[in-house]
Amino acid sequence: MEKPKRAQRPHCLVLPHPIQGHINPMLQFSKRLEHKGVKVTLAITQFIFNNTMNGTSSSSISVETISDGYDQGGPEAASGGYEEYLPRFREVGSKTLAGLVVKFGNMGCPVDCIVYDAFLPWGLDVAREFGLVGAVFFTQSCAVDNIYYHVYNGHLKLPLTERTNITVPGLPPLEISDMPSFVSVPQAYPPLLKLVVNQFANVGEADWVLCNTFHKLEEEIWPLRTIGPTIPSMYLDKRLQDDKEYGFSIFKPKTDACMKWLDQRSNGSVVYVSFGSLAQLGVDQMEEIAWGLKNSNYYFLWVVRATEQPKLPKNFMAETVLNGLVVTWCPQLDVLAHRAIGCFVTHSGWNSTLEALSLGVPMVAMPQSTDQTTNAKYVMDVWGMGVRAQCDERGMVRREEVEGCVREVMEGERGKEIRRKEMKWGELAIEAVDEGGSSDKNIDEFVAKLVKS
Ligand code: UDP
Repeated sequence: MEKPKRAQRPHCLVLPHPIQGHINPMLQFSKRLEHKGVKVTLAITQFIFNNTMNGTSSSSISVETISDGYDQGGPEAASGGYEEYLPRFREVGSKTLAGLVVKFGNMGCPVDCIVYDAFLPWGLDVAREFGLVGAVFFTQSCAVDNIYYHVYNGHLKLPLTERTNITVPGLPPLEISDMPSFVSVPQAYPPLLKLVVNQFANVGEADWVLCNTFHKLEEEIWPLRTIGPTIPSMYLDKRLQDDKEYGFSIFKPKTDACMKWLDQRSNGSVVYVSFGSLAQLGVDQMEEIAWGLKNSNYYFLWVVRATEQPKLPKNFMAETVLNGLVVTWCPQLDVLAHRAIGCFVTHSGWNSTLEALSLGVPMVAMPQSTDQTTNAKYVMDVWGMGVRAQCDERGMVRREEVEGCVREVMEGERGKEIRRKEMKWGELAIEAVDEGGSSDKNIDEFVAKLVKS
């Protein structure tokens, strides 16, 4: 007998790990799915909901809340840190996510698939409990995930030593300093090493493995379903007018101040500086960056989150008022896409890296931790889109190095070489997400299977 035709469009429940750098790409992916006719509900924690949306929806995607067990304080409220937070999130999150699946079933709007962040592998258990399709979503680069995978399967034995010959299939020769910090310094934060390695514990059982990158960018690595870059297409290609709103922000962007200030600058004259949503720099490091930027003599737009601002040197703001603008948060994509931006001093978070590559902005990579070190290695040596600032023996990037790297990218030979390449990655990113491109096709296949299931 013929299977009855589906009455409704397929429904995906999308579950990101509750941090900015994971919610954004999964929200953008959700929008792509919606464009393809899939109903999407984003499941975020109550804590993130309270702190980003103040109870009002700022997104075209439906949002529902689950609990991580810390509705009032989020991960910070777990006195035992991530070691306490993650198992509790698994326990309470699984139950509340299952509750959502039941609720939608009762409402006559059943869930067909759970797209879960690779950091939350228990999303697959919930999918299995209800016989749903389970799709794991890797928000980080394939290179980084490949390293974690080889730690998981025992190919890379930790701790690494200077004598370890680091070979990872598909990756160039790597030094310890190029490895993600959880791998290069495994003793520093064991719960997070466990988290990134555990991403692979049940990956073989997932129905889909989706990765936020694009094929041409990481074609040497695993044949994964690449679906990125998850950047609204109008930023990639000005002809496209899609939903510009970028996502949830835990921080309020100073949009007018930034854009008006940039509008007054000439093309390629401004250094944009940001270390993302989580990195906490030492007071000494902030001071070196501050004076390095000032000494470079370029205009700069520097995002220093409110909690980091007390670390700025005392007289810095007064001394740089004419050539610098310091804001607590900015609309980064609008900034990177602005004609005035000449280079991006970045912590090399994966989203920032993808955004800069896709918009053709040369980078000075100043990785702090996690996957940023590997991203920085790729930016400089594989993709040729920037330089990596070198640390001194204390692990600090000195002001002369900041100044030198900025100059090298803004006016040096290296900068000219990068500018010759910058169009390439932007064009390849557009090609990937455009109709019939590699990422677009992968999303189409995913949707087509959901429609049939
Ligand atoms: N971002 C932003 N405004 C800022 C700084 C960052 O909108 O002032 C966004 C940026 O566009 C990126 C995300 O925040 O999408 C940061 O993610 P990333 O992976 O680069 O770093 P993380 O915050 O996870 O360390």
